[in-house]
Amino acid sequence: MLNIVIFGPPGAGKGTQAELIANELKLIHISSGDLLRQELANGDLGQEIKKYQDAGELVPDSLVIKMVEKAIAQNLDKPGFIFDGYPRNLNQAVSLDTVLKTGRLELNAVLNLELDEQEAVNRIILRGQTSGRSDDNEETIKARFQTYQEKTLPLLDYYRRQNLLVNIDGRPTISEVTKQIMKILKK
Ligand code: ADP
Repeated sequence: MLNIVIFGPPGAGKGTQAELIANELKLIHISSGDLLRQELANGDLGQEIKKYQDAGELVPDSLVIKMVEKAIAQNLDKPGFIFDGYPRNLNQAVSLDTVLKTGRLELNAVLNLELDEQEAVNRIILRGQTSGRSDDNEETIKARFQTYQEKTLPLLDYYRRQNLLVNIDGRPTISEVTKQIMKILKK
């Protein structure tokens, strides 16, 4: 069993790396952003979710936590999880600890993908040309970074104290970053 969180600012490459690592290690990739976008497309809560996403704010915990818990519960027989974009605040982190504990699981590492804001913004704007995501525009990106600073960054301390935090340089090429991550996970 291997359970990891992939952490980092918007645009650092969390989703890309999570997908590659999940394939390589046969882990279940749980992206709260993807789950929300699916719900947005299919569920009744679409308008509500889009409002938060387009404002660059966190979608309320009550909704996000429930979605992630469901995804975990459906896959408890699998070799492990990689959480991408989740948790994003302290409440979500504490909830994740509790849910994992209940399933007799634990986190093994929190990978912090480091990238400076300017580079991350450049990447998101480039992605925006093809992603079709309504939150990949300059104004929303600014708000997403602010949310990250205020709500999400404090989690680094939470995980550092649990000795789970590993910093990864997010600047190199996709395959170079994957290689670094795999090296760390093999230890
Ligand atoms: P990125 O990490 O590039 O910003 P995501 O797809 O992870 O992209 O997130 C897009 C948006 O979805 C966020 O700005 C936020 O509104 C919402 N979101 C994603 N994950 C969470 C979460 N764990 N809690 C609350 N809102 C979330």
